[in-house]
Amino acid sequence: MSSTPPLGSLYQALILDHYRRPRNRGELADANGMAHVHNPTCGDEIILELRVDDGRIEDVRFRGEGCSISQASASMMTQLLRGRTATEVSGLADEFRMMLRGGGTPPRELGDLRALAGVSKFPARVKCALLGWEALANALANADSA
Ligand code: ZN
Repeated sequence: MSSTPPLGSLYQALILDHYRRPRNRGELADANGMAHVHNPTCGDEIILELRVDDGRIEDVRFRGEGCSISQASASMMTQLLRGRTATEVSGLADEFRMMLRGGGTPPRELGDLRALAGVSKFPARVKCALLGWEALANALANADSA
């Protein structure tokens, strides 16, 4: 289950790069929002920590284990979050979900996440790609700063 589906070599290289060298990996000492999610079908696990100040995400870290899609997707997601409000983040999540349903050309603002567009052809893996976003939504919901 941990193999990467064939998504095209350029995309595959970017996914493996994030998988091997995750961005924003680690713990956040002054976090005020946290979530721990997992995807039993694949064994994927993500712990995400946020610091939210004045309604904006100031910093983010994640750690976890599992398939390349789940870990690379979380790493790619964390690159997009600093300075954003919960509303902005939920707009990005909607665009990402639309991309994973095979909807049109993914918008530029999804950044490296666009490499995961081909996951729409592998419905069993969509849940892997969304795991980081599930952690993010949970962490935002329990962040104790408004
Ligand atoms: Zn997975």
